[in-house]
Amino acid sequence: MSTWNDPAGGFLAVSTPDYLPRARLAEIQLQRLRSVVTRAYERVDLFRLRMEERKLTPASIRGLEDLQQLPFTVKNDLRDTYPFGLFASPMEEIVRLHASSGTTGKPIVVAYTREDLQVWQEVIVRTLASCGVHRGDVIQNAYGYGLFTGGLGLHYGGEGLGATVIPISGGNTERQLMVMQDFGVTVICSTPSYFLHLIEASQAMNKPVGVRVGVFGAEPWSESMRQRIQADTGIRAFDIYGLSEIIGPGVGAECQAQAGLHIFEDHFLPEIINPDTGKVLPDGTEGELVLTTLSKQAMPMIRYRTRDVTTLVSEPCSCGRTLRRIRRIERRSDDMFIIRGVNVFPSQVETALLQVEGTLPHYEIVLTRDKGLDQMDVRVEVTPEVFSDKMRSLEAVHRKLGDAIEHVLGIRVSVSLVEPRSIARSEGKAKRVVDKRKL
Ligand SMILES: [Zn+2]
Repeated sequence: MSTWNDPAGGFLAVSTPDYLPRARLAEIQLQRLRSVVTRAYERVDLFRLRMEERKLTPASIRGLEDLQQLPFTVKNDLRDTYPFGLFASPMEEIVRLHASSGTTGKPIVVAYTREDLQVWQEVIVRTLASCGVHRGDVIQNAYGYGLFTGGLGLHYGGEGLGATVIPISGGNTERQLMVMQDFGVTVICSTPSYFLHLIEASQAMNKPVGVRVGVFGAEPWSESMRQRIQADTGIRAFDIYGLSEIIGPGVGAECQAQAGLHIFEDHFLPEIINPDTGKVLPDGTEGELVLTTLSKQAMPMIRYRTRDVTTLVSEPCSCGRTLRRIRRIERRSDDMFIIRGVNVFPSQVETALLQVEGTLPHYEIVLTRDKGLDQMDVRVEVTPEVFSDKMRSLEAVHRKLGDAIEHVLGIRVSVSLVEPRSIARSEGKAKRVVDKRKL
């Protein structure tokens, strides 16, 4: 155990479960699984009815592999039971509600008991420690505060770690930069796209930032984007993972190896399934991530289908944590769009375009329909040097981009090179795709 979780030299007892022997972890998981299934069965109509349909009772769970017999839960189950239908605790035990912004119809509502909030704080402390954040750090928390779980989730975790937390929330870029400089910020928590926006504004205002670590999540971003952020800013950029239905941020986090995100498996049991058949796939195979909460009181989730596409990695990690990892999530099945019969994920386009020199990490994909034919235009910002340079340079970048994207997607799409700062910046989750086909 030479490399514990705190580069400042401290040992965080709270991170002990990150290093448990697998056999011990499995014992804890089974005990908690039986308890959570019993709770869901006894207290939530939907779970009990679905288990009864399959002639299952909590006693059917004898080993961890019996999880596979249980029915899945999907996002629509939360919508259908809106607002409180999946709660397993009476209202007087629930101390917090959050809700996800529904793009269509009603939001989904999630609940926490006091114990749930303690677990949430614990997993965020472990998340931050894994990213190399420690006491003495000053955290600028630019995730949105409010019904969204990002702001308050990171907030209490940061305080639990003993770091200094600035609850600045999202937006107001000038104030963000002032605080970053004047308060000696060392850690930024935000979406990666908002951080890019901050850095760009700081360069324009000639305000250097001394941030050491970025804790980035809440939107898919590619490995190329990470490389670009680290090279351009000198910070170390870590990916974190979570979703409100499970707890919020704090489900998994990268470590110093930056080679996948450790899932906090003592609280969240991961499976990978074939999204079409629902069959569980072995570790090392790509599929849809399914999560079961092992300790949630207010709102247990049994086999929740995340729609996130990834792979479970069970090989040991160089950091010493024994928790399995997931590969970074660059694709959500919800993000996919189809153009001329080809399935496209925005992250594939991102990876291709960031490999071409002279591009900036700001882009958008515009989909239109012309005479019944789908058209895709990738609008990419290029550096001022490329843009102001002779035509030759622009043409060369244009051709390279077209080739790089064609290489990834297998189809030729239109590419437009645009001036720096001409694509709208996001203060939260970036909107990469503008689909005008449905308008
Ligand atoms: Zn690791």
